Amino acid sequence: MPSVLTHLFLCFLVAAMSTGCQKTPEAWNSSKPFKTQIVVGSATGLQFQIVELEGVQNQKTLEGEVVEFYLAPGEQNSELVGPHAVAKFIQNSEGVFIPTNSLSLQMVSLYYHMQALKKLEIQSLGKTFVKWPRKIGLQVKTNSAETRFNNAFYNNKLDVMFFVPYVDQELPLPLNGGIIAHEHFHSYFSYSILQKSLASDVLPIEDYFLKSINEGLADVWGWIYSDNPDFISLSLPDLAGPRKLEQPSFFRKPVLKTKKDMESDLNLVEQECKRLSWCNSADQLTLGLAYSNGTALARTLKDFLTRQNLTQEDKAKKIFLLLEQLNSLNLKKELDFESLLVEWAGLFDSLSDESCKILKNAIKTEEIKNQICLSF
Ligand SMILES: [Zn+2]
Repeated sequence: MPSVLTHLFLCFLVAAMSTGCQKTPEAWNSSKPFKTQIVVGSATGLQFQIVELEGVQNQKTLEGEVVEFYLAPGEQNSELVGPHAVAKFIQNSEGVFIPTNSLSLQMVSLYYHMQALKKLEIQSLGKTFVKWPRKIGLQVKTNSAETRFNNAFYNNKLDVMFFVPYVDQELPLPLNGGIIAHEHFHSYFSYSILQKSLASDVLPIEDYFLKSINEGLADVWGWIYSDNPDFISLSLPDLAGPRKLEQPSFFRKPVLKTKKDMESDLNLVEQECKRLSWCNSADQLTLGLAYSNGTALARTLKDFLTRQNLTQEDKAKKIFLLLEQLNSLNLKKELDFESLLVEWAGLFDSLSDESCKILKNAIKTEEIKNQICLSF
């Protein structure tokens, strides 16, 4: 049976050929938008979409204002090294460049979503605070068995987004707008938090706390951008349960961790690491926990933002404000998710009754619960 992707390419070629001979395509030059076709995924399935890429300077590498693509890059002296990825297209009679292989489809999809994410940032903030064009590595090879396939990650140090080969039958990760937004958010977190003094000499518990917030907010960003609370399972259906940002109401109970909870997590993880022969540092084990704390935080924030009835741009604005506020957070004093929520609720002029209910339900420490929504 052909895979979804093979099927997509057959459709692409048929679409390209069936409209041939009707009109001579206009020659493209870099002063014009680059018209191309991508595949978008939503809860209702996959669809073709004709889009325009702006600021493309080179029709083969798609180098331009938004992205710089590298094929299977490596790292040398703390620098990204490797050849530029090259895309192949056939142009149909409407002047649309149809990608003819998987790599080319990944490149146009990523360009399109990164262009939209840049616009969302500029609309919400009036500026952009990360460096453009963004660097992206495709078909990346890793040594670790766990991340060799079906994964994407952001490298803080190199400021690069990486995609390893996707070998499943669903929507490939580099085509999934929500996943791209999640990874891109890590660059916001890195520029605004990790590169600043807040992150110097952090204790393991502070690192654990920041990792959890980073993963949680990245999932919220993926939802804000894609408008799909289950964007991860379009590509990775096995993660629907643990990562979906919506849960049946009977699961809604205080799941946000206090400082004490996090301390006992770290103790357990240290003991577990000593027991396991492959564990070199407890750090390897805390990332899994950071994802589950992140998801708990993300579910609460998503529920809360939904009840506040905000536009996409306003939701994005609040997340940027939260990042700004995190910078002024005193990690030594306010190291728990409950206090973080109280701080965050302060960013809103008024809270709906529903939003207050969500916050109160998420917090188990009475003293902190009482600081929130005083009139509620
Ligand atoms: Zn992440």
